[in-house]
Amino acid sequence: MENDSTRIDVAIIGGGPAGCAAALTLLNQTSLKVGVLESTNYENFRIGESVSPNFLSLLRYLKIENKFSLEMQIPSHGIDTAWGSTHLRTRDFFFTGQGNGWNLDRKRFDKMLADEVKKRNGVIFTSTKVVTQQREKKKWSLFVKQENENITKIVSDFVIDASGKNASFARNLGSRWNVLDYLVGIAAIYKIKDFGEGQPYTLLESDPDGWWYSTLIPHKRRVVVFMTDSDIAKKRELQTLENWNNSLKKTLHIKKTIKNAELIKRPAIFPAYSQIIHKIGNSLWVPAGDAVASFDPLSSIGIGHAIVSGIESARIAFDTIQNDGTLGDRYLDKVYGNFQQYLKNREYFYKIEKRWENNLFWKRRHHLVNENTLSNSSKLDKPEKIV
Ligand SMILES: Cc1cc2nc3c(=O)[nH]c(=O)nc-3n(C[C@H](O)[C@H](O)[C@H](O)COP(=O)(O)OP(=O)(O)OC[C@H]3O[C@@H](n4cnc5c(N)ncnc54)[C@H](O)[C@@H]3O)c2cc1C
Repeated sequence: MENDSTRIDVAIIGGGPAGCAAALTLLNQTSLKVGVLESTNYENFRIGESVSPNFLSLLRYLKIENKFSLEMQIPSHGIDTAWGSTHLRTRDFFFTGQGNGWNLDRKRFDKMLADEVKKRNGVIFTSTKVVTQQREKKKWSLFVKQENENITKIVSDFVIDASGKNASFARNLGSRWNVLDYLVGIAAIYKIKDFGEGQPYTLLESDPDGWWYSTLIPHKRRVVVFMTDSDIAKKRELQTLENWNNSLKKTLHIKKTIKNAELIKRPAIFPAYSQIIHKIGNSLWVPAGDAVASFDPLSSIGIGHAIVSGIESARIAFDTIQNDGTLGDRYLDKVYGNFQQYLKNREYFYKIEKRWENNLFWKRRHHLVNENTLSNSSKLDKPEKIV
């Protein structure tokens, strides 16, 4: 039954950075009734940690700068890379003139965003998974499954799909993406004894089958991730502790970052492929964050993009509800333009590493194999119009 608590103006699917940024923008700037539907209760580990020095300006825009505490972030002062050779090169943020970046505890950061949505009178439905939807004239009915409960219905005028790479809402509408690779990250977490231990900077090291990163996160922990393609990960069975440890031992620098550390979360696999939406399939909704475009973690732009596109999608929602607006097309043009620039940067960076050109992972990055995947920006389908 439709009642007050299930009738909202804008329903946002997904309470990650994109969804919460959209909600905060609407709550800060309009009087629309906003609901965020989030399938988890923010209890489990979330991947993706590094953000660049200009991140603070986004938090300032969302009016949450003063909530960005040491509970959920530690300053990051630079990156060390062993890429193209065994030697470490340092990029110190100090010399960029923009100040430091940050490494996030994503579980705490995302939870803080959701708490702020609630404090600003947004409705947050946690442990609430959107399973399917129906369009009835100018309204959406979202059918949600809550913990231990039956399916219930939430009705809204506009939907923002910020449900991450899977973009379940968009997928149900028949949306399509250009998917550019099969990248996955296998991530483990270590407890370190003190911050002085190992590498103070984020460390990147290339490998015959991919690349590693190791970075500090709050509460004296370190995330160690191996990035490779899903078929290679499957073959190497890197989620087994024995294979993980053997692979780590073969690294030159990464292994040193966890020398006296204790493993507190076993290796787990996360999809990390690059994609951009091209077929939208309906109107009165917009995709944001990873649902519209997602990026190789090498770029460290996923979280920033999620917040910016969340803000943009909130403007589109408001514009559509108030004026039957046309901001949606400009938004997709912008996403598409940025994505093409990102592909050029990605290609440039991968091509610096020439030591393993005969290995499948690097062959794919150097476009030396044709596997029916899109490998350059000229082959991208442009997104169709949405509103
Ligand atoms: C290994 C790895 C390393 C990365 N490192 C970095 C990095 O260093 N820096 C960086 O900027 N980015 C990084 N990223 C990318 C970054 O994590 C993402 O780009 C970012 O999380 C996208 O935010 P989002 O809000 O779009 O999606 P998500 O963070 O995925 O949030 C989506 C939300 O939707 C919820 N949801 C999903 N389906 C439903 C449903 N049906 N109903 C209700 N809720 C639903 C999920 O629970 C989740 O809370 C990394 C990614 C990977 C895989």
